[in-house]
Amino acid sequence: MSKKIVLLGATGSIGVQTADIIREHKEEFTLVGFSAGKNMELTKQFLKEFMPEIVCVQSEDDAKALKVEFPAVSIVFGSQGLIETATYEADILVNAVIGSVGLEPTLEAIKQGRIIAIANKETLVTAGHLVMESAKRHGATILPVDSEHSALFQSLNGEKREQASRLILTASGGSFRDRTRAELQNVTVQDALNHPNWSMGSKITIDSATMVNKGLEVIEAHILFDFDYKDINVLMHRESIIHSMVEFHDTSVMAQLGTPDMRVPIQYALTYPERLPRPEAKRLNLAEIGKLHFQEMDYERFRALKLAFDAGKAGGTMTTVLNAANEQAVAMFLSEEIQFLQIEELIERAMDKHEVISTPDLETILHVDSETRKTVANMIK
Ligand code: NDP
Ligand code: MG
Repeated sequence: MSKKIVLLGATGSIGVQTADIIREHKEEFTLVGFSAGKNMELTKQFLKEFMPEIVCVQSEDDAKALKVEFPAVSIVFGSQGLIETATYEADILVNAVIGSVGLEPTLEAIKQGRIIAIANKETLVTAGHLVMESAKRHGATILPVDSEHSALFQSLNGEKREQASRLILTASGGSFRDRTRAELQNVTVQDALNHPNWSMGSKITIDSATMVNKGLEVIEAHILFDFDYKDINVLMHRESIIHSMVEFHDTSVMAQLGTPDMRVPIQYALTYPERLPRPEAKRLNLAEIGKLHFQEMDYERFRALKLAFDAGKAGGTMTTVLNAANEQAVAMFLSEEIQFLQIEELIERAMDKHEVISTPDLETILHVDSETRKTVANMIK
């Protein structure tokens, strides 16, 4: 029987690759609903191709225009529309929006006991405890899409949690891995958007260059797999072939390997616990690759990674501050209002100013999120 899929963030990098998988496996999956932001060209293309039942866009004007062209489809908009789409009857919700806008739709879908394939790491970083607690209470399943977390999930498969001693997340190092801090002073937006291994949306590409992405992933791993921060390590691995590893008490290490292609972890989340072939499968050829490299992380050089560990250990609202400050700072860097190194500087200043609230409810998180964005925007005025 075909699985019904709702896809949030369909017009983004993960969204388009999820659509590829649905297209490649027409018998297995039906796209019954999706959300987009502002990309109306792709929205219309997907509407014609997949003929979904519900579509959400960001603005009311775009929704009105779509309604004229697609009268049979339920067209909704804005944050309320995103919730309506996320909770639309389906087997799996794929959350591939960017940023903490994904939080409330995720929490509402959890209340319906859904299976949620989550790419939207900002939701887990900003309010992971609420997501996991609520998922437990409502019997919802959270499946990782992020390649490192899919690798950890696959490496932990069939093992008892208490047998595992350590998570080892690999990091490619992003577009600036071979530059010194001094060389980062005047890098441009274009330089930062040029990632060596992965083709991704612009926000996460900047996050990879600053190493904030790996920091968010450390927190994401803590939330998803319940390991202490002292038992989560990061290892530089420039080839992005080993996507992450789990060490067990007997010193065995399980790893998941593959060519860097997000369609593999996305597909695994859609088919779990089964696997489907990849039609254009790029098989891993280790003989051709020859060598894999590993290196200790330098926390002086990649200060943002240290900040993320600090935020995670502080707990409570500190990870909300880390995420919101980063989202605001990255937006300002992309619009050329600040320089590259100011991203981590603004995050650090926002964290220094913040007094942690230990077990925040949703209202507190939303408040801290919006206040942090304002604080960071004001820091450069
Ligand atoms: P993109 O920027 O490419 O896409 C984001 C999607 O969200 C688009 O569909 C966009 O719409 C939509 N969107 C943006 N802002 C809003 C908003 N305010 N309200 C509603 N919708 C909005 O992001 P990615 O696909 O790169 O990343 C998505 C998530 O997956 C992120 O959390 C990222 O960290 C994570 N991730 C991404 C990976 C990758 O390879 N790209 C790898 C691992 C994790 P539109 O474009 O139409 O405006
Ligand atoms: Mg990742």
